[in-house]
Amino acid sequence: MPGIESLTEVLVTELRDLYDAEKRLTKAIPRMAKKSTNGALRKALTDHLKETNRQVRRLEQAFRQLGERPRGKACAGMRGIIEEGDEHAGEQYQTEALRDAVIIGSAMRVEHYEMAAYMGAIEHARILGQSTVKDLLEATLAEEEAADKKLQAIGQTVNPAAATGDADQEDGGGRSRKSAQARGRKRFAKKR
Ligand code: FE
Ligand code: ZN
Ligand code: FE
Repeated sequence: MPGIESLTEVLVTELRDLYDAEKRLTKAIPRMAKKSTNGALRKALTDHLKETNRQVRRLEQAFRQLGERPRGKACAGMRGIIEEGDEHAGEQYQTEALRDAVIIGSAMRVEHYEMAAYMGAIEHARILGQSTVKDLLEATLAEEEAADKKLQAIGQTVNPAAATGDADQEDGGGRSRKSAQARGRKRFAKKR
């Protein structure tokens, strides 16, 4: 076997990588949503799970368009990003807002990695004149970009909430510190 000989084969390889990545995400996103406590974050993740299922179907259409059977090839990059996300979300946190802040960061890593992969495949589809494949991939890229923006917006609520403990520490104590710590302990206890 002479290996990969054409840009079309490169594109098919990229689709296989993405197919594996998206399928992994259909299992990973529910875990992230389950660990989230912020309502908007949970909703963003479950909404994006539905989109991710559609993205898998779009990739299957792209394979068929290229005369290929849909087949994944292990995406080591996404496997690593998901592994890290699970690890970070599973740490112990003083407040649930801190965990949510970390989950947002993990989810944004996922989206950016996907965006880079789709952008590369889109460019290859464009060069090859595969306009149907290009359109399918662009529809998904738009969803990934929107998911990223949504997560960023949710972070603007979650991150200040996560920072309350820091502000109280700077005050050097007082009533607000105690109440924040009490809240933190309460949430922490509930989670364990
Ligand atoms: Fe995706
Ligand atoms: Zn990959
Ligand atoms: Fe995504």
